Amino acid sequence: MTLSATRTDRRDVLQQIRGELLQAQRFLITSHLKPDGDSIGSQMAMAYALRALGKDVRLVNCDQAQPALLAFPGVPDIEIANRVEGDYDLVLVMECSDLARTGVEGLDRYRIVNIDHHPGNAMYGAVNWFDGGAAACAEMVFDVIASLGVPLSREIATHIYVAILTDTGSFHYSSISPRTFDICRQLLEAGADPVSIARNVFDSNNIGRLRLFGAVLGSVELDPSGQLAAIYLDKAMARAAGGTYDDTEGLINLPLTVKEILAVVFFKEADGNQYRISLRSKGPIDVCAVAKEFGGGGHKNASGCTVTGNLAEVRQQVMPLVQAAIQRGVQSQG
Ligand code: 5GP
Ligand code: MN
Repeated sequence: MTLSATRTDRRDVLQQIRGELLQAQRFLITSHLKPDGDSIGSQMAMAYALRALGKDVRLVNCDQAQPALLAFPGVPDIEIANRVEGDYDLVLVMECSDLARTGVEGLDRYRIVNIDHHPGNAMYGAVNWFDGGAAACAEMVFDVIASLGVPLSREIATHIYVAILTDTGSFHYSSISPRTFDICRQLLEAGADPVSIARNVFDSNNIGRLRLFGAVLGSVELDPSGQLAAIYLDKAMARAAGGTYDDTEGLINLPLTVKEILAVVFFKEADGNQYRISLRSKGPIDVCAVAKEFGGGGHKNASGCTVTGNLAEVRQQVMPLVQAAIQRGVQSQG
């Protein structure tokens, strides 16, 4: 597909979404399990924009937002449920490559608009906008709001900024484009305060989280190449530190601050003989390909999956694939 065709597609789908949004009155907006900054920011920005147009908007997620995100306007009012009923003209699903990612049942009965930037989106909506080049889903929401002609309020600007800040790993990931900064410039002009946002996002720790970081980082292991780090968390460690699994958000990025480390695997003990695996990498190393081998997904540099087995078995399955991904990435750079 040529670049101009892509631009045309983008304009067409935006026009289509605009038409759908203007026509509908009753909205439900949802996102993925364990919603992150981009999920919440995309949902909230869209909700504020639709409410500015006099629309009825209900926000439902399967899981509570991370504690740091509760400081932002409207976030504590998001309902937590794993099933929805009622009358909605349109359901907006943000950030989900398939409907199961929502963890919410009953959505398939409604007309769905699917807005997402995760590779492998299953195009499950009546209208689907997938843009794998967006640094955050909220960049796409920014375009939708602009197409509606709704001015950027301070609330909308704040939510989109939170989404971009968190989903780019604080402006670390390769998904960042000149557009990312152009959008951020407009968000700051509209009243988003990057200093207070950064303080809320990054400086809201509790002492249990700090101790848990210490325990998990104390477990770090390097493979013989020194390029791959593995960290571990089980329930006993969390209890001993006085923290919870939710407190580990962001922790996986810390081993990547070591110059030689190119990829990190975080093994988290889950229920039912399973491990939740989070993967992070630098530049050309594609950990999404590894996550997909186990039925997961995500982005090239940030992915996740769930693997069955005890720690030794899961390690045995996952680590060689990440080592191979590192080799491929290093070779692709010449
Ligand atoms: P995290 O490691 O923070 O849980 O997830 C990192 C990225 O991978 C996020 O973009 C998240 O949406 C995606 N991700 C994590 N787990 C899964 C999974 O099981 N399936 C899919 N499709 N994506 C996942
Ligand atoms: Mn995202």
